[in-house]
Amino acid sequence: MVSFRDVRKSFGALEVLKGIDLDVMPGQVAALIGRSGSGKSTALRCINGLEKINGGELTVCGRNLRARDFELRELRKEVGIVFQSYNLFPHLTVEQNVTLAPRKVNGLDASESRALAAEVLEQVGLSDKASSYPEQLSGGQQQRVAIARSLAMRPKLMLFDEVTSALDPELTGEVLRVIGKLAAGGMTMVLVTHEMAFARQVADLVVYMHQGRVWEAGKGTMLDDPQTVELRQFVGSGL
Ligand code: ATP
Ligand code: MG
Repeated sequence: MVSFRDVRKSFGALEVLKGIDLDVMPGQVAALIGRSGSGKSTALRCINGLEKINGGELTVCGRNLRARDFELRELRKEVGIVFQSYNLFPHLTVEQNVTLAPRKVNGLDASESRALAAEVLEQVGLSDKASSYPEQLSGGQQQRVAIARSLAMRPKLMLFDEVTSALDPELTGEVLRVIGKLAAGGMTMVLVTHEMAFARQVADLVVYMHQGRVWEAGKGTMLDDPQTVELRQFVGSGL
């Protein structure tokens, strides 16, 4: 579903991704971990074309992002992304936030929208909040609305960039549970996270990035027995 081959990305003279190789198969969950500045978010943003790669090959949902006939808009319909900041529209209800894009893109009518909202809000455990406004919700609930908003586009692949980092610890769990449920339901996902226990638990593939490279990758158990000094230090530092 996602395939990086020697992917390179620079910002001006700064090479941030220095030849990334990574495969995520349908139904798999990959967790990107690593120190600040190691290139995790950049790698994630390349997957849905928010950043353009400078070298190598990147294939997502069967589309080569550097092909001449590559259509970014088509890719974006298939790949959902959720960030640390949820950016909900404050003047729209939860249901309106969630169905805005599908109404625009797929031309849903009112009753189709309502049914879709009910379905995705149920998935994130917020069936009772359809007519609330964002400011009436907790941070964790708002983040779950943001996840529902992505799900409403029926993505084949979901990307999460530190979606719990802005939340109080007691709200983190409810968001992680939703992501864990999606994983159990077979959603393919790539997530950047500092939640090591969560990464170990849900990820089929844990990817430790260091200085723009995949330093170590494997099952969650690799965290118990790091092969490199860098990962050992990272695990030990409790980051
Ligand atoms: P963190 O854990 O702090 O979120 P990260 O692993 O996600 O870090 P990235 O955001 O991918 O790291 O950044 C990797 C490097 O690329 C950093 O040195 C950062 O300053 C640089 N960088 C990221 N985005 C840009 C940009 N738009 N322009 C210039 N440099 C950038
Ligand atoms: Mg980041």
